Amino acid sequence: MKKPRHCSGRVIVIGGGIGGLATALPLVHRGFDVTILEQQAVPGGKMRQVNGVDAGPTVLTMLDVFQDLFADAGESLTDHVHLVPQEILARHWWQDSGPLDLFPDQERSADAIGEFAGTAAKTEFLTFSKRAARLFDGFSEPMMRQAEPSLTALTSHVMRHPALIRDMGLGQTLKRLLTRSFTDPRLRQLFGRYATYVGGSPDRSPALLSLIWEAEARGVWCVKGGMSALAKAIALLIEAKGGVIRTQTKVEKINTALGGVSGVRLASGEALYADQIVFNGDPRALALGLLGDTTNQVATITTKRARSHSANVWSFSATPSD
Ligand SMILES: Cc1cc2nc3c(=O)[nH]c(=O)nc-3n(C[C@H](O)[C@H](O)[C@H](O)COP(=O)(O)OP(=O)(O)OC[C@H]3O[C@@H](n4cnc5c(N)ncnc54)[C@H](O)[C@@H]3O)c2cc1C
Repeated sequence: MKKPRHCSGRVIVIGGGIGGLATALPLVHRGFDVTILEQQAVPGGKMRQVNGVDAGPTVLTMLDVFQDLFADAGESLTDHVHLVPQEILARHWWQDSGPLDLFPDQERSADAIGEFAGTAAKTEFLTFSKRAARLFDGFSEPMMRQAEPSLTALTSHVMRHPALIRDMGLGQTLKRLLTRSFTDPRLRQLFGRYATYVGGSPDRSPALLSLIWEAEARGVWCVKGGMSALAKAIALLIEAKGGVIRTQTKVEKINTALGGVSGVRLASGEALYADQIVFNGDPRALALGLLGDTTNQVATITTKRARSHSANVWSFSATPSD
């Protein structure tokens, strides 16, 4: 492992969701004086338990992202969480036609689809899958793994790989792509659900989101104890390396001075200084000036329309039985 360069300076991370935790870990490991300020009672954000039940994410995909995060901090992910690879990626069920399971093995998924919806559907699935894999590979480095994807870098990447233009289905919605890809309406419905992963609807989301299928096809893992156990493990590691996590601590304002940030003011009235601030909340909060009017240029308001909730989550605790 490469020894990290030792850095100094006080960093405040506003928000202890998985984004804030994943930002804080490499910083604290490199020697920054890091404090996470989280308004809730525990860190994790959506990846936390509410009344003892995981209320947000259920499964882990793109495992290598977390393996790299831990490796960068000189740790091994599996020393901190117990991962359970899922043999069945997802089970889909229709009232009149029973279940359809999909698997990490593409041939097995194709056979299951063939059995469920016929040979033509199997061929359609394989074509759709290949397209999703090309898109995933094409956009992984220039977009998905970039902290700050740039439109210019993305455009020049697409220009260097013109076949991606056809695969992206420019100007097409996911629903349109699925209507063209699958004859069976159940399969259109099944693959349309990937739009909901970003709080979208298939008839309003771009066809590009079809690549999410490939992220899932590459494997799905459960974390023993729920996904909140992963957030907890990262939080513990941050604290073990000297980082501070303050919960029930709401930031009300980001203070600025001399054209840069100077610290934060908490809802309690306490002021904390910082050399750098990372905001892990909704960027729209910055754009709307909810953390002060000197930081509203940092983010842009991407939509003027009122937003709806993307999910209404009901959590139940139960003991399963056959
Ligand atoms: C029901 C549901 C199911 C999901 N399923 C999956 C899944 O299976 N797999 C998957 O990969 N993803 C899933 N997701 C998506 C995933 O949970 C989120 O993308 C991810 O957790 C977001 O993390 P984040 O750190 O960006 O934001 P958040 O988790 O929202 O964290 C932001 C944090 O900032 C804090 N904060 C904001 N403003 C302030 C302030 N002023 N002062 C102090 N604190 C502040 C908030 O309290 C919060 O803790 C699911 C989401 C939901 C809702």
